[in-house]
Amino acid sequence: MSVGDSRSLQGRVALVTGAGAGIGEATARRLAQAGARVALVDIDAAHLDRVLRELALPPDRALGAVADVADPAQMQAAYDQVRAAWGRLDIVFANAGINGVWAPIEELGLDEWNRTLRINLTGTFVTIKHAVPLLKQQGGAIVVTASVNGTRMFSNSGLTAYAASKAGQVALAKMLALELARYRIRVNVICPGWTATSIAESTERRNLEGLRPEVRFPAGSIPLTGGKPALPEQVAELVLFLASEAASHITGTEVWIDGGQSLLQG
Ligand code: NAD
Repeated sequence: MSVGDSRSLQGRVALVTGAGAGIGEATARRLAQAGARVALVDIDAAHLDRVLRELALPPDRALGAVADVADPAQMQAAYDQVRAAWGRLDIVFANAGINGVWAPIEELGLDEWNRTLRINLTGTFVTIKHAVPLLKQQGGAIVVTASVNGTRMFSNSGLTAYAASKAGQVALAKMLALELARYRIRVNVICPGWTATSIAESTERRNLEGLRPEVRFPAGSIPLTGGKPALPEQVAELVLFLASEAASHITGTEVWIDGGQSLLQG
């Protein structure tokens, strides 16, 4: 079998959360291109409509579900839609997330902390928990989007809630990699560095000046590109690899995709 064949997703069904923009959108596109039938989940109906329109797939190849990843009933309804349409599920990309409020701890409200943890960490738990009954039928692959923040980078002071949610996702994924191995379900985590998406829209920055010790980088903060961010399409290639048979022996690991950013910036 060639490497090209082992990345084919012909006959597979994939569900992508946060598929209405950025990394989720690029990945839904890439998985569909590789042959998968794709279920797109997003909290924003307008985002979802645009992506579904642009994908222009026949109705038996794509469906959309408006859902908040942290709401068990809404996520169960999304999986029910997948079961009714295709009767199986092979791949889950638990990707939806927000930056939330970035602020010094004394100014970070409990409600703000809770919102970030709810969407990023509880949302990942709910996304995976409700997928397991379908994935168990034949085995499959789960890929979780964490970040360099909270896994290899701790210098962005003020991102406390975000980094904690991302660190939590890694622990959750490793626990489940072991628990779900008996069902031939692999669980891996991607840790992107700065990627050109619309995530800035879900960011509220407050009083961060002077919070972080000043560091000067000689030639941009991303060594591989001289400072340019990743394209969501580059991240989508990694998700396709981890979701496909090409990664059939890989489970319980994180893969950083950051052009070396987290090594320099730590
Ligand atoms: P984005 O804002 O471009 O897209 C995120 C999508 O998720 C949006 O369509 C949004 O409507 C949806 N979403 C938000 N909350 C949701 C919820 N509760 N339920 C369902 N959908 C919801 O962001 P992105 O950059 O593509 O981010 C995707 C993931 O990548 C996030 O988990 C983020 O933390 C992670 N990440 C992004 C970067 C970056 O630089 N862009 C770096 C590291 C990690």
